[in-house]
Amino acid sequence: MTSLDDLPIRDDLRGRSPYGAPQLDVPVRLNTNENSYPLPEPVVEAISKAVAAELRDLNRYPDRDAVALRADLADYLGHGLGVGDVWAANGSNEVQQQLLQVFGGPGRTALGFTPAYSMHPLLATATGTAWRDGRRDADFGLTVAHAVAQVREHRPDVVFLCSPNNPTGTALDPAVLDAVLAEAPGMVVVDEAYAEFARPGTPTALALLPGHPRLVVTRTMSKAFGFAGGRLGYLAADPAVVDAVQLVRLPYHLSALTQAAARAALAHRETLLGTVRAIKEQRDRIVSGLRARGRTVADSDANFVLFEVGADQRAVWRVLLDHGVLVRDVGLAGWLRVTAGTPEETDAFFAAVDAWTAGVA
Ligand code: PMP
Repeated sequence: MTSLDDLPIRDDLRGRSPYGAPQLDVPVRLNTNENSYPLPEPVVEAISKAVAAELRDLNRYPDRDAVALRADLADYLGHGLGVGDVWAANGSNEVQQQLLQVFGGPGRTALGFTPAYSMHPLLATATGTAWRDGRRDADFGLTVAHAVAQVREHRPDVVFLCSPNNPTGTALDPAVLDAVLAEAPGMVVVDEAYAEFARPGTPTALALLPGHPRLVVTRTMSKAFGFAGGRLGYLAADPAVVDAVQLVRLPYHLSALTQAAARAALAHRETLLGTVRAIKEQRDRIVSGLRARGRTVADSDANFVLFEVGADQRAVWRVLLDHGVLVRDVGLAGWLRVTAGTPEETDAFFAAVDAWTAGVA
């Protein structure tokens, strides 16, 4: 059998592991921050119609610039944004990869503040960008002084900030973003994949775009829109950034089917985003329920909750799985992350937690 080691892969990829959240067939899957609600029937019908209308023309390449979709996304974002300020790709992962291809690469560095989204360092490596693992405070917070000191130390070409932060769930202090924007010598990417779930009053970095041509905000339809399978992520930035990304994007990267499906979904955004309120209720229920059980829990502006298990998290992950509930071990010693889904899923999660603690007692 040929193994990876037998192949002439790049030296900097040797010994690395691919991104791999388990996709297990269990009753309650709360490990990848998906939206637990299936798309409502009227939206399914609208998407089917929109996709069907494209089928006859599949002999032609799609609109390479995805102009209509980008206009719809800009309209959704508001903040005075237009089609020229927005770019879309197959998930915000692809958007971030494109950003690293154009602003990172060999001889360049990217900095993130760990623990944060685990794909940022993987995308850096894949694009030949050296990753600098910045640190958060012990309570996972990030102070202005700490963030600025690390930017000063590393002088990165790209800084990743994640708000709300995955896996901790907490939104970024706007003062940190202001300070990093003032200090960073290169691009500042704010990953707002979970923005729609933020608690009232949480500012978005979109408001800072005017006057900050090196700021990029990435968003996704995978979470609040329940469109993870559709693969649609996007960014908002100065039009020059959108032009820059054209240098590395593959021609026709976004299929006609994806563009049509995403536009139909956006046209039904009121319905799709209707689940956000229900999910936030479950998120708050998980936070308070875990705290009532004596657990330490990070405040969450997202659709997931990071909680302390006071034990080897790998063993607790297994016990919860044995009770039919799949949560996420993000590799933080003593902590696990659970996605907020339906009320029934929260019930099942608490039942599994209680069975685990009863087993320990
Ligand atoms: N950013 C963050 C912080 C995420 O948690 C995720 C999904 N887990 C993504 C980006 C990627 O989402 P997608 O590629 O589906 O848009």
